[in-house]
Amino acid sequence: MAEENERLRYYDVLTNLYNLTGFINQVEDYIRNNPNKLCLLMLVDIANFSFINKSYGVEVGDKLLMSVGNILKSHFKDADVLGRVGGDEFAIFAKGVRSKEDIYLLVERVMEVLDKHRAFHVGEVEIRLAVNVGVAVYPDDGRNFKELVQNASVALRLAKEEGPNVVKSYNKEIEEKIISFVKTESLIERAIKKGLFVFHYQPYFEAKSGRIAGFEALVRILDEEGRLHYPNEFIEQLEHSHYLSEFKDWALKEGYEKIEKWGKPISINISTRTFRDESFPERLIEYARRASSEIIIEITERLYMEDPQRAEEVIQTLKKCKNIRVAIDDFGTGYSSLSYLRQISADILKVDISFVRAMLEDERSRAIVETIVRLAKALGMRTLAEGVEREEQREMLVEMGVDYLQGFLLAKPMPEDKVEELL
Ligand code: C2E
Ligand code: MG
Ligand code: MG
Repeated sequence: MAEENERLRYYDVLTNLYNLTGFINQVEDYIRNNPNKLCLLMLVDIANFSFINKSYGVEVGDKLLMSVGNILKSHFKDADVLGRVGGDEFAIFAKGVRSKEDIYLLVERVMEVLDKHRAFHVGEVEIRLAVNVGVAVYPDDGRNFKELVQNASVALRLAKEEGPNVVKSYNKEIEEKIISFVKTESLIERAIKKGLFVFHYQPYFEAKSGRIAGFEALVRILDEEGRLHYPNEFIEQLEHSHYLSEFKDWALKEGYEKIEKWGKPISINISTRTFRDESFPERLIEYARRASSEIIIEITERLYMEDPQRAEEVIQTLKKCKNIRVAIDDFGTGYSSLSYLRQISADILKVDISFVRAMLEDERSRAIVETIVRLAKALGMRTLAEGVEREEQREMLVEMGVDYLQGFLLAKPMPEDKVEELL
């Protein structure tokens, strides 16, 4: 009986989450014991709750509250604190968030799960769920629960004024990030659904003869207004989005089609998550087996160094297929040591643009490029110099014995119709 009373003091009977008292206790305890951790408080308010209650009855309203509680429970780790802190208001306290980046990711993901469950079915009727979210960050927006909740409430009120499904943050910096995050997410979604991804192809050349040796496929989004968006704007987020696998399928298919059409090798950049995906080598090999020219997979040196052993395994698997070559991108920036160079079984090292850029003025950079070229040769690998912009660089690189050259001096990335003119 005492136990039961205790439960009632701290828990909400309907959703089994903490009630306001329980929530405050948990948050204050945590902050007291971890004063230096970055944390996130989110207030989630059901925008149309009183309407639902009035139109469909209290029982339906209760069911909706229970479902929202369950959605939040299934989405968050046990470690985070969840509460129903008001009639139709939920609170989430995410403990020990690693970085500010993680904050807007977290917020975006909550909006995403709620969005997925937007339609509730009660008997015959479908009810649309709409929410507002107010966000405040510990310690920036408040040093204790009271300050935090006050500021999150201010943000929530502003969100409600703007309409359903709006998120506001008390923190302007975070708010801007959330806005740009949501914008990019929408760009990616539209790119997938409306087929707005395009490759531009940048040729690279045999250093000695100047002949075209192949093309690197570089992704862009060509939006509805005809504006071109470059990968630095969206590639990182695409990597973490659930559209990644659809993008990968598109990229492989597109690259493969162009190889067939142009009969030239094409390089495709591979991101960390794609590279880690167990099914990726198989899918790639499937295309490569049928291809009439080579597919070159570019992985950055940094990615290679994250787990050299696994990277080697994947490379070995890929290289069993005669049409697949592997290039290490941005070479010289990923902290690999000589001992790793010995085991890398890639075909091509792409000397990072930063060395090529500094080479003319800076002796040390020149020495590094020279060494990479010589080492690669000794180890049976080819070299490609990225970012060749000046004639003096080209001459010096040819002198050093680099195999391939790529850069604005020779050709910029171009849309496919320009490639066809070139060929
Ligand atoms: P990256 O693979 O190192 O690609 C080379 C980047 O350098 C390209 O930028 C290219 O336009 C640029 N570049 C080439 N020559 C020159 C030059 O002479 N001077 C200067 N300043 N820049 C030059 P872009 O297209 O913006 O791509 C940036 C990065 O985005 C790429 O670096 C690559 O890491 C990534 N990326 C591009 N396409 C894809 C893709 O389809 N998938 C993945 N996962 N990443 C991609
Ligand atoms: Mg590349
Ligand atoms: Mg590069």
